[in-house]
Amino acid sequence: MRKFTYALGLLVAIGLFAQDKTAMKFAKTITANDLKEHLSVLASDEYEGRETGKKGQKMAAKYIADHFKSLGFEAPVDGSHFQKFNLTEATIGNVYFRKGEEKKIGFENFVYYSSAETSGEEYIQLIMADEENEDLDYEGKYIVYVAEQLGGLQEKAQKAEEAGAAGVFFALENEDEFQSMITRYGPYLKRPSLKMEGRDNSATKLVIANKELAGWLYEKAFEEIEAGETATVIFNADYLDKPVETENVLGFLKGSEKPEEVLVITAHYDHVGIINEEIHNGADDDGSGTVSVLEIAEAFAQASKKKKGPKRSILFMTVTGEEKGLLGSQYYTDTDPIFPLENTVANLNIDMVGRIDDAHADNSDYIYVIGSDKLSTELHELSEEVNSTYTNLELDYTYNDENDPNRFYYRSDHYNFAKNNVPIIFYFNGTHPDYHKPTDTIEKIAFDTMEKRARLVFYTAWEIANREERIEVDK
Ligand SMILES: [Zn+2]
Repeated sequence: MRKFTYALGLLVAIGLFAQDKTAMKFAKTITANDLKEHLSVLASDEYEGRETGKKGQKMAAKYIADHFKSLGFEAPVDGSHFQKFNLTEATIGNVYFRKGEEKKIGFENFVYYSSAETSGEEYIQLIMADEENEDLDYEGKYIVYVAEQLGGLQEKAQKAEEAGAAGVFFALENEDEFQSMITRYGPYLKRPSLKMEGRDNSATKLVIANKELAGWLYEKAFEEIEAGETATVIFNADYLDKPVETENVLGFLKGSEKPEEVLVITAHYDHVGIINEEIHNGADDDGSGTVSVLEIAEAFAQASKKKKGPKRSILFMTVTGEEKGLLGSQYYTDTDPIFPLENTVANLNIDMVGRIDDAHADNSDYIYVIGSDKLSTELHELSEEVNSTYTNLELDYTYNDENDPNRFYYRSDHYNFAKNNVPIIFYFNGTHPDYHKPTDTIEKIAFDTMEKRARLVFYTAWEIANREERIEVDK
């Protein structure tokens, strides 16, 4: 199948598509060396893993804005390269169950998660779930479920919310699973979390514990608790929130012929910061995409200086808050699109392009392409043609499959454009064991491969920005 597509692409290339020497000249300015130079700054320890709202993120924002400035790009946000906005940082402070002097402590004896605003001790009522009795009144109570494992918890939490329950108390059957859950999720859930200001994602309170804690609260052996039985206990969860300012970084290159039509090229420059005192450098995620945007921007800036287009405008935008839930791109598309979305012809999003995954150990000249055919047949064909004309990478569509369980189409910033009917392409190298680990570092980046991928994005952008008609949305 792959080979067939490739051959077809070649025919199309011979038939319709000739190499554009001008494009090739400027593509050559995108080099492995330059990519490495930028990345050795952004993925260095000094940048502390670029967590949204933190010092390292601010340093990265400045580095990127300075680059856009040096290229002579317009600062499109009222004369600034920064699109600033506020997020809410929520921290769960003291969490415990108390009986007299004795306490069971959150993130040691159980895990707690909620964005409901609570503080101080309160009496809460637990009620053992009874699947047989549909008339049972769960309103305002914490429903206790026995769970064999973590899978399926979300579905139960949703049901509880529909039944008007205040929360859900999961008693895990398997003690090993419980312990590993505490180790795995404890540190994450204890950290401050960021959300869009004023948006309450989950008011349902979630306790994940073991049978032992449930028994302690009911003051009897777990097996003796009957379906529908209640217990009133003292619970404390202190929730604190405060505003955190963060920013997308935008550089604008005005089109020479159709300036009102805009192509947006994105990558997220934030990463997950410091966890358990370890810096997560995020060299691949998404330092690689960020520095690709910087290099593609530079190539277009040089073309523009030589009066070689682009005909349409290009917005280079590195976004913040991706790791917190695609927040920066969501702010741009849902709250403050600097350029109207109906004039936005496409979004090319680059998120992780510096590594080679296990599936391609013997052919590093590949890239996963996701979403190119979802809204525009023309964009997909353009992407294929450009590749067979200039870069000849293997375009791998594995993750483009609707049924792929990873659902990557929904998991990076392009999705906020796609949901607004803007055709997108998402470029991705696949996963690797260093994903979201302190080991996602610069010495593991394959810069020669990254250079080819960045050039592919450049050529694709070149064609979208310079072809006669804007690409058509037909799906
Ligand atoms: Zn990412």
